[in-house]
Amino acid sequence: MSTAFISHPDCHDHDTGEGHPENAQRLSAIEDRLLASRISDFVRYLDAPEVTREQLLRAHTPGYLEMIDAVMPQKGYARLDPDTVISPGTLQAAKRAAGSVILAVDQVIGGQVTNAFCSVRPPGHHAESDRAMGFCIYSNIAIGVKHALEEHGLKKVAVVDFDVHQANGTEDILIGDDRVLYCSVFQHPFFPYTTLPDNSERVVSIPLEASAASPEFRAAVNDHWLPALEQFQPEIIFVSAGFDAHRDDEMSYVNLTDADFRWVSEAIVRVAEASASGRIVSALEGGYETNSLARCVESHMRVLMGL
Ligand SMILES: [Zn+2]
Repeated sequence: MSTAFISHPDCHDHDTGEGHPENAQRLSAIEDRLLASRISDFVRYLDAPEVTREQLLRAHTPGYLEMIDAVMPQKGYARLDPDTVISPGTLQAAKRAAGSVILAVDQVIGGQVTNAFCSVRPPGHHAESDRAMGFCIYSNIAIGVKHALEEHGLKKVAVVDFDVHQANGTEDILIGDDRVLYCSVFQHPFFPYTTLPDNSERVVSIPLEASAASPEFRAAVNDHWLPALEQFQPEIIFVSAGFDAHRDDEMSYVNLTDADFRWVSEAIVRVAEASASGRIVSALEGGYETNSLARCVESHMRVLMGL
């Protein structure tokens, strides 16, 4: 079993301005924690490439890509929505963030590693085919899924999303593709206040009340995600790894603990080992309290590494 850790210094240069919760300290906290824990000695570090236009076009409209290129500021800040701040380093960071998932797919399907974690920003799961939203520019995981389907010819791909926010972007781009099983659990009603998808054979969307904690979260995974995943037998599992449901994270009212994130990571690995030769591509979404974020990413990495 081997695990890649994919990132790029450009992801630190996406400046969101003073006091913004989605900032470069998040990546620094993760990197420092992995070094201090010494598990960094056993990880394959890879630099994220830039995503290509062709790869982006599998998930986003040409008009959206042109708009994004056009609005990027030469200096200072601009906003794509009330939360999504952009600055001169943003476009490059976004290209590396989406590119990291492409490289992770190539590495995992190519057999160079068993699984991969992409420690990148901006996050992706709120970005729709033609709309930036909620700190997200390109829909990183959806772009990686499309790459696995179109470039590598996979027929059955699962996406699991345990970020505390509903993944409206991933849903917009992937729901309706019969080759994709989408499983999510999130606080509701809550940002992004988009319509809930109808559950079906390919959609397992489990809303949690704001007061939810470990029992409700684990029941959602045990009773809904795992039976669907076991039935579907995916060839690879993508993880939208958001850690903002942690009780120390003020971004939400759900109260998960470090142990819950380790537990769900272990459950995902077990399903991947059963049907997908262990193949997992995981990418960072939310997680804004940097201490719990760094601890939980270390724990997620340890599970991916079989430690
Ligand atoms: Zn989130």
